Amino acid sequence: MTAPVVIRFLGGLGEVGRNCTCIEVDGKLLLIDFGLMFPDATMPGVDVILPDTRWLKTRADDVLGLVITHAHEDHVGGVAHFLREFEAPIYGSSLAMAIANSKIEWDRLSHRTSLHVLADNERLKIGPFDIEVIPITHSVPQSFCVLVHTSQGVIVHTGDFKLDQTPVDNRLTNMDRLREIASGSGVRLLMADSTNADSPGHSESESSIGRTFERIFPTYSGKRMIIGCFASHLHRIQQIVDVAISEGRKIFPLGRSMVNNVRIAQQLGILSLSSRDVYSIEDIDQFAPGEICIVCTGSQGEPNAALSLLASNNHRDLRVTSEDVVILSSHPIPGNERAVYRIIDRLTRMGCEVVHDGHELVHTTGHAKREELSVLQSIVKPQWFVPIEGEFRMLQRHADLAIEAGMSEDRVIVVTDGAELTIDEAGVSVTGGIPAPYRFIDGLVDDVSYDVLEQRLSLSQSGFVHISVVVSKERFLVSRPEIATRGWIDQTKSVDILASLEVEVTEALERALDSGVALNDLERLLRRTTGRFVGDRTRRRPPILSTVFIVD
Ligand SMILES: [Zn+2]
Repeated sequence: MTAPVVIRFLGGLGEVGRNCTCIEVDGKLLLIDFGLMFPDATMPGVDVILPDTRWLKTRADDVLGLVITHAHEDHVGGVAHFLREFEAPIYGSSLAMAIANSKIEWDRLSHRTSLHVLADNERLKIGPFDIEVIPITHSVPQSFCVLVHTSQGVIVHTGDFKLDQTPVDNRLTNMDRLREIASGSGVRLLMADSTNADSPGHSESESSIGRTFERIFPTYSGKRMIIGCFASHLHRIQQIVDVAISEGRKIFPLGRSMVNNVRIAQQLGILSLSSRDVYSIEDIDQFAPGEICIVCTGSQGEPNAALSLLASNNHRDLRVTSEDVVILSSHPIPGNERAVYRIIDRLTRMGCEVVHDGHELVHTTGHAKREELSVLQSIVKPQWFVPIEGEFRMLQRHADLAIEAGMSEDRVIVVTDGAELTIDEAGVSVTGGIPAPYRFIDGLVDDVSYDVLEQRLSLSQSGFVHISVVVSKERFLVSRPEIATRGWIDQTKSVDILASLEVEVTEALERALDSGVALNDLERLLRRTTGRFVGDRTRRRPPILSTVFIVD
């Protein structure tokens, strides 16, 4: 009897982000991806969300490595956090390793890892793990589909993917290898990207976006162009710079990650762009508007990124004018729509023309839609299937698609973060679970709980009131109550309310002191009196804090 293989999901099943899958072979652990996720409006103050590592830490000595599928933040973004807790080598494409290295060096953690660049179709051993990485198309160069050859058969982890027949770099998905395995030993388990499992049809090829740029660039000749897109989307950037340069423009990367990524991709030869054509934003005044193409960050409405700063006229180096054309070569990620439309609105008010994917094909998704997912199923012909990388409804839709494509229902398993699957002679089954809640990082620490988030939300909605008094042991008020508020009321406009509150509290305290209430109970009385007054007068329920100082 051969040993079972165990798979545990630390993130990415139930949300889009913080992808992390852990595979166990012969008591050793290998991770695929350690990504982060960005917070939404219900998580004020949170910087990023990570996979929970409490269980992994109990097995820290067994962690042999981390394989990164591709250079997106939700797959590689957590490497520095990972290395603070674990020492292990990291494997991936040259681009993914360069991006990982910049994060690791920034946090001075290089001594805790070694970075190993993998070539397309490379097969390697990491302890008992027999790994193969094959090219797959996506919206960042050098994406890998990971094959794990085990005693329980071949496990396929797609990473993020789409099936692009005409990728910008001509690096096609290695379908032949998938076909070869499918028709040979077969694929025991497929785990595939579910992000677009809800979207019908087939995604547009990335190269079709370049044709849009070729068509629309000449119509803006003489005008300055500002184009926002993901800094990691180097194929998009390639297409933008190709058209811009052919139209006689120079390239001005704007935004820290755009400047960094363009430089890294130039050095790695991933971006074909001569340094003669790239200028720093400080040199922009040397050129006429028609000679300028700014490529910038912030297409998702991120508040401190270049595009937001431009739209609010707060950018240090650049002012948008009514003579500019802004192209958003992106699509708002769910949750970012309002921020993105606010930017479009502001730029439009400033008089510039804004082009976005609502009226021009200036963006395409990096994730396979239903037709592509069906193609993958028909080629891989997995014996078992687990949808990964998506919110629950996406996982479920992906599972339904596999069943429609002919898989038997009991061989399609929908699980979420924390699930533990075991692959043995009997097949694949859910055999347990590990804790996998969101791990909220705020600043340097991860102690933000759901309770803390609830308090932050409550404070953000109603502010708070703090009231303090000084009482002598002889049971009289030493001074008038001090009232401090934040976010509850405008203290300059609401003098009457505050004065009435002071009177109300003073009278209540004096009554209580006269009637012999214990001094220890005064804080509660103060809170109750203030709360009742605040509720009656303003119909608001801010948290009330009270302090009673007792003096001799
Ligand atoms: Zn991705």
